[in-house]
Amino acid sequence: MTINSNLLGLGSFVDGQWVQAGPKFSVTNPATGEEIAKVSDADAQLAEQAIAAAKKALPAWRAKSAGERASILRKWFNLMMEHQHDLGVIMTLEQGKPLAEAKGEVAYGASFVEWFAEEGKRIYGETIPAPSGDKRLMVIKQPVGVVASITPWNFPSSMITRKAAPALAAGCTFIIRPSELTPLSATALAKLAEQAGIPAGVFNVIVGTDAKGIGEVFTQHPDVAKFSFTGSTAVGKQLIAQSASTVKKVSMELGGNAPFIVFDDADLDAAVKGAMASKYRNAGQTCVCANRILVQESIHDAFVEKFQAAVAELKVGHGLEDGTTIGPLIHEKALQNIHKRIEESVAQGAKVRVGGQPHERGGSFYTPTILTDVSNDMPIASQEIFGPVAPIIKFKTEAEAIAIANDTDFGLAAYFYARDIGRVWRVSEGLEYGMVGINEGILSNVAAPFGGMKSSGLGREGSRHGIEEYIEMKYLCLGGI
Ligand code: ADP
Repeated sequence: MTINSNLLGLGSFVDGQWVQAGPKFSVTNPATGEEIAKVSDADAQLAEQAIAAAKKALPAWRAKSAGERASILRKWFNLMMEHQHDLGVIMTLEQGKPLAEAKGEVAYGASFVEWFAEEGKRIYGETIPAPSGDKRLMVIKQPVGVVASITPWNFPSSMITRKAAPALAAGCTFIIRPSELTPLSATALAKLAEQAGIPAGVFNVIVGTDAKGIGEVFTQHPDVAKFSFTGSTAVGKQLIAQSASTVKKVSMELGGNAPFIVFDDADLDAAVKGAMASKYRNAGQTCVCANRILVQESIHDAFVEKFQAAVAELKVGHGLEDGTTIGPLIHEKALQNIHKRIEESVAQGAKVRVGGQPHERGGSFYTPTILTDVSNDMPIASQEIFGPVAPIIKFKTEAEAIAIANDTDFGLAAYFYARDIGRVWRVSEGLEYGMVGINEGILSNVAAPFGGMKSSGLGREGSRHGIEEYIEMKYLCLGGI
């Protein structure tokens, strides 16, 4: 399977123009190490040009009706779905995930464009009963202005549309710097944005390896009203601090450390199914992947046995090979980090039930792994894994499970399996997490608010709330009546 050349953007897209001059860098396939394409490497100066273009395009875009913007966005959505397969191939080649998952992500990413095209029509204001008869009080909602954003490599398409779609629908103009590891999915979106008729300067892509330099421009430029980031907590904290200089609005989707709790009243087969989906999707490289599997003592052995049988069915391979369910990790450094944490945890008493080694295919392929006898302070449980490793922690009581689950700085996603209705409520309310899957291992969808508590972030994406991040509230006080 080869790349559809009509979707291949080999540089940045600024003010409706492709910028392909200057030095280049290689985009490689994590499954083979082979170069897929050479892409022009944008610098911080081009980021400034993109901000100027977005500023220039703002008045006309903002002045369109929500319905006019929606019909353009609808075209963008249709083009994404028409090219679902080709966008999926690009994603698998540059990111590694199995093609079925890549195509699933393209549809998930496109769903934000469809959703927010409609949601843009429902940005309602309010009227407020005035404290005196000679006044009328109102609230209107306006786009915040120019939005700049930075996204990671694990979801190279949907993390962009989850920000761009609400921004554009609200009347903002937008600049994205995708991860330099997966720029081709971003530039393919720009190719389709052009075809959809999104005006020059409204959607800009900056492709560059100087993340720090470009990030400084995005977070410190006075013409950027809003900065939105998805990535690690460490980088997110730095970017929040940088944004303070201009008091920008910020949204942050940062790291997680998701507990996946199986109580003794759970449907075990359903729990195994949910754990497989939550843990091993994208080879474990998502911020909502189960990071720690907590299993109640009395069902521990039965759960581990069934879970191990399910893990044995996973097929590690190149994402374009038929039947692959686990692709490579993004690079060998990621593999080394994960392996080191497994070794340290084993030295502290964890037991390898299955896997625990790089996969025989070599490169950055890792064997799906289960560790038992894990405790919450071991490196494999206390940090985000971002790989196909399931650490299992045994617990005795409901209160102990909640305490272990909450014993982390993170608060993005949590999951639990239980049938007792009282327990379902107690645990749902006790978990300090922005999203909780109850008898469900997959919870992301366009209609639901995605986001975290504690060090996992600020703000929500998707759902009717997602567009609020791109809207400014203005209070009008009309006197002299
Ligand atoms: P991940 O573990 O997902 O790679 P990172 O936070 O390192 O998480 O990366 C997320 C995104 O942030 C990527 O696009 C990366 O290039 C970018 N990035 C990394 N460091 C910085 C920085 N100092 N300033 C701005 N962007 C950065």
